[in-house]
Amino acid sequence: MRKKIVAGNWKMNKTLQEGVALATELKNILAVEKPNCEVIIGTPFIHLATLSELLKDSVIAVSAENCANKESGAYTGEVSAAMVKSTGAEYVILGHSERREYYNETPEILKEKVDLALANGLKVIFCIGESLAEREANKQEAVCKAELEGSVFHLSAEQWKNIVIAYEPIWAIGTGKTATAEQAEEIHAYIRKCVADVYGAQAADDTSILYGGSCKASNAPELFGKPDIDGGLIGGASLKAPDFKGIIDAWK
Ligand code: PEP
Repeated sequence: MRKKIVAGNWKMNKTLQEGVALATELKNILAVEKPNCEVIIGTPFIHLATLSELLKDSVIAVSAENCANKESGAYTGEVSAAMVKSTGAEYVILGHSERREYYNETPEILKEKVDLALANGLKVIFCIGESLAEREANKQEAVCKAELEGSVFHLSAEQWKNIVIAYEPIWAIGTGKTATAEQAEEIHAYIRKCVADVYGAQAADDTSILYGGSCKASNAPELFGKPDIDGGLIGGASLKAPDFKGIIDAWK
């Protein structure tokens, strides 16, 4: 059975103190009202060790938002997958469109990052999704397939078990424009078919595919109600505990 997941992506928000306050609030809320899904918070590197310790006996897992494509050494400012793992974090988000666009992360670089993350015992939330121009040209399926082929479809069946896919149409990220539940379901089903073609029907059925892009408490129930949508990767609405909790509650 694939996991239902609600994962936050704080992006470049929250000082260490603000992050601790938000994670503590969420931990306390979820200790009283147990979630019906796995809950992950994706944070900047500076929060990882503190939050992993703070959340270690809670229902919340911690994720990094990036890791280096090199193992170790003279790469000033970079943080390796081994370093992320050593903080206690369980996951890393890779392939986010903001990293592809602003930091020129190519499919080859992402492939190296995915390999290093898995080799160091991290699970990967791998993001894919088309731009508005690509959606208007009806190229969303080709774009998603190419992104999977470019960075994750070389993995073994065993490695694939540690991959979560996040479909995030770029035109919906932070814009307030959400894909309709039907649009999202259509492409999620297609992505699952692509996974089945490479890893088989059972592995595809076991793969969690999250939707991301202006997901909030008001639209999460409809999105998560679709058969191939297994939860969400949440940006803006993960920055306030009640908003994030509202999305987690969509699984109730
Ligand atoms: C994201 O960037 O992963 C995201 C889904 O952002 P938002 O929810 O703010 O659209």
